[in-house]
Amino acid sequence: MKSKKQISLFVAVLAIIVNTAIAQEVKPRPTKPENGGSLKTITDVSGSSQNDPQMAMKRMPIGGGLSEEWSVYSGELKFQELPYSYDALEPVIDKMTVEIHYNRHHRSYYNNFMNAIKETELTKMPIYHIFAQISEFSDAVRNNSGGYFNHALYWDNLSPKGGGEPKGELAESIIKQFGSFKDFTDKFNTAAKTRFGSGWAWLSVDFTNGELFISSTANQDNPLMNNAERMGVPILALDVWEHAYYLNYQNKRADYIEAFWKIVNWEMVEKRFKQAQKK
Ligand code: MN
Repeated sequence: MKSKKQISLFVAVLAIIVNTAIAQEVKPRPTKPENGGSLKTITDVSGSSQNDPQMAMKRMPIGGGLSEEWSVYSGELKFQELPYSYDALEPVIDKMTVEIHYNRHHRSYYNNFMNAIKETELTKMPIYHIFAQISEFSDAVRNNSGGYFNHALYWDNLSPKGGGEPKGELAESIIKQFGSFKDFTDKFNTAAKTRFGSGWAWLSVDFTNGELFISSTANQDNPLMNNAERMGVPILALDVWEHAYYLNYQNKRADYIEAFWKIVNWEMVEKRFKQAQKK
């Protein structure tokens, strides 16, 4: 027969075991992943399915949300004319910079893109379908398709008659999303200034919810590419490669970015905004 002491010890141990079990039962589930990562890690996981080429193709609006000129097969794309003379953007962007940038840099991207897709199935795809699956293709395709397309957007969203502020639905959306036009330009400037090395700053329309968002990409990547952190239709492009401003601004990228707003062609950006909303 067991002593009273042994029985009370047994009861005490049992109580501890039961209490521990109850305590574990009511313990709140961790909201953070066990690996110590933040909640952002979880968002990134869903982001990676967005970046799946098939998913990117499905989510992309018809025609990539772009103007008609981009709906042709890539093999039939032409090198667009500069919509103004080389000196038209002075004093914001000097004549020599525009001439070298358009006639050498941009033209090379176009020529190299055409060479990279020559005699491949990519000639039979619109450029936005190439972008949606860019992770599947070579660096030559990635860099030159982006370099060609991004610069076409950039020249078109600048104008000697530009500047001021957007109007209508675009203005409303900017205020809704960013608070004010000033808050929007501050955020865009920060994205452009903090892009390390060469790249682009963008205002885009999110594929899935139509929201405006600001982002930056490295090298010649853009928000239509399935490697983008957030995918969307780009409606405003700013080139922050040194070749875009160095002759006039040298290392002062911030001054170039500030001056850029004096030549933004808001009519073009509004047109793109409407195009991006079409289903
Ligand atoms: Mn450039």
